[in-house]
Order: sequence, then structure tokens, then C-alpha cells
Amino acid sequence: MAHFDTLALRATHQIDPITGAVVPPIHLSTTFARNETNELPADYVYTRPNNPTREALEKALATLEGGAVGMAFGSGQAATMTLFQALRPGDHVVLASDAYYGTPALLEQVFHPWGLTYTRVNMSDIDAVQQSIHENTRVVWCETPSNPMLAITDLLTISSIAHDAGAICVCDNTWATPALQRPFDFNCDVVMHSTTKYLSGHSDVLGGALIFRQNDELAKRIRTLQSLSGAVPSPFDCWLISRGIKTLGVRLRAQTATAQTVAEFLDGHYAIDTVHYPGLANHPDRALIHQQMNAPGAMLSVQVKGGAEEALQFIGKLKLFTRATSLGGVESLIEHRASVEGPNTTTPQNLLRLSIGLEHPEDLINDLAQALDAIR
Ligand SMILES: *Cc1c(COP(=O)(O)O)cnc(C)c1O
Repeated sequence: MAHFDTLALRATHQIDPITGAVVPPIHLSTTFARNETNELPADYVYTRPNNPTREALEKALATLEGGAVGMAFGSGQAATMTLFQALRPGDHVVLASDAYYGTPALLEQVFHPWGLTYTRVNMSDIDAVQQSIHENTRVVWCETPSNPMLAITDLLTISSIAHDAGAICVCDNTWATPALQRPFDFNCDVVMHSTTKYLSGHSDVLGGALIFRQNDELAKRIRTLQSLSGAVPSPFDCWLISRGIKTLGVRLRAQTATAQTVAEFLDGHYAIDTVHYPGLANHPDRALIHQQMNAPGAMLSVQVKGGAEEALQFIGKLKLFTRATSLGGVESLIEHRASVEGPNTTTPQNLLRLSIGLEHPEDLINDLAQALDAIR
């Protein structure tokens, strides 16, 4: 198999057969014409069920993850919602306790009233995962590295627990991306993405995806739901995400190298209590990281000495980092997660989450250094 960079470029490359354009056109048309005998020239009828620009993205996503079929949605949440919609009232979901907050929010506010039950469990505690499985468990939902503690889930072990119970294992691969981790290599059944983040990579488009290891009954059911419920991305958004994918490998490589430098700087700093980063030698899941990921990625969290006040004081002094939620863009972002998650959060009050962009590492470190020195 070609290296990831090559794969990403080839998977999104398509020469227009009519004009020879090297970059594919954006097919904005919502409808497709039939000839005199009522035949369609290709498989396209109407853009909600299928569109050439969306199909190109979906095929690229399947290629990158090594899956059989990919489906694009209007957001990560729309992708997650469609997966849960394929279940039946009475089914049970096991969910990582530190999954992206929108995932349990969907289960609690939308699918619980509709008849799904769920159990949240620490995916690093294998016994607890085993005990959380019920007779009616259909989905085990992991997310690794986790948000915001950067814990690593053992996908091979968790997927085998799921399969023993007759359930599927879904992995939210948004943080790692297929450039760093391919969940199908560890027997997961479905990969979920918020393509809003690293895949598009420029903080300018919202999108989501589900990729299936096999084009099985579940995949076919979700294809039907995608078409019927219509939570699909616009052709322009699909095109932007495909364009982002072309540079995913090179962006993440540069961002990871900078994140490593930043993490090492912060790890030794007198004003910092703890750094959570998979690239640090003291990360508790080192063995798993080696087994499962080919690089530690560009997300890290730090706990400053003190509490919310010190954390907010610190980020208030930053000049290069943008104080904003989200991740995976070319600009470095920093966020006080506890304020975003609200009063019921379990995230430590002194924790800040960093998404490392493409600025020069020395400039980022200088910015962090001056802001940390200013905490009183
Ligand atoms: C952002 C995010 C989501 C939700 O995706 P949207 O595109 O915002 O709907 C889901 N999972 C993870 C890990 C995310 O970072």
C-alpha cells in the first residue's frame, strides 16, 4: 500500500473527463437529467440521496480508513445521530465516559426518550467495560485519544469484547485521523469522524462521516437513513473537505512535531502541574500508543498549578493562541474546557486544552512562556 500522503492525494484526485480539469468541479446541481428514453447517464438522480462531489469525498474517506464504504454527513453530530437512529428502541449502548460531550448529550436528550439506554464507562478499565455489557447491547462507542484527558483506548481488546457480546464497536477517530490511527486494523466495525476538524483542517467547514468496514446490513440501513433524513453536507462543503484531505498528512506531521516540542516545554515548566500528551515518555498508555498510533498527534491538555482562576489568567495573556473551542485547524487554539462544559463537568478546573496549529514552534513556546510568567 502507498504511504498515507500519497494515498490521500490519490484518493482525492480525479481528472474531469470532459474538460481535463485537474481539480474536480463542484457539482452544485440538485437534480440530474434523463434522456429521450428516460435513462440517466450515471447513477445520480437527486442530490439528497447522491451527488458526484459528495460521492468523491465518501470514496476518499473509505480509502483512507481502509473501509468498504464511507458516508458523509452535515456535521459530526449528524453522523453520530444517524448511527444511533439505526438502532431500535430497547437497544443499549456502551459509551466511553470521556467521549466528546455531544455524544452522551444526543443519547440523553434525543435517544433516551426514544427508547435507547446507555451506560458510560471508563474504557481503560477492561473489567468495567465487560460489566457494562448487557444482553441488549448493540454498540460499544470508543473515542481515542480521549477528550480532554488524552487517554488511549485499547481498540483491539474493546472490539473483541463488543463482538463477544454480539455488538459492534464504533470508534470516533476525529482526534487521531486515519493519518495516525486506523481503527479497522484493530477490528472496529465503524469509524466516525467530525470532518470539521483535521480532515478539512482549516476551521471553515462543518462535516461528519461514518465509514464501514464492510458494506453490511448496518451500512445499507445507514445509507437509507442518510438519504431519507437528509442530514447531508452541501457539495461545496464536500469539496472543501476533499481539498483539506490532500494536505492532512503533511499538516499533521508538522503539527505533531510542534505539539511534541510544546508538550516537552510545558512538562518542565514551574507553573504547570501536569501535561497530558501521548508523545511524552510519562504517558500511562505508552505501550498502547506504540501498538495503535503511528504518531502522538497535535492535541494536548495541561493542568496549571492552581485552579480556574490561574488557568483563565494564563490564557488571557496569550497573544498567538486563539481562545476558542474546536480543533484541527492551522491556527493554534486554546480552551478552558470546564467553562464550556458547564457546572456538571468532570473536567478539572485548572485544565486547558490546546490544538496545535502550523505556527513556528519557537513562537508558540515564547507566547506560552510569557503568559505563564505573568500568572500571579
Ligand atoms: C467536534 C467533535 C465531534 C462533533 O462534531 P461536529 O462536527 O461539531 O458536529 C464529535 N467528536 C469529536 C471527537 C469531536 O472533536
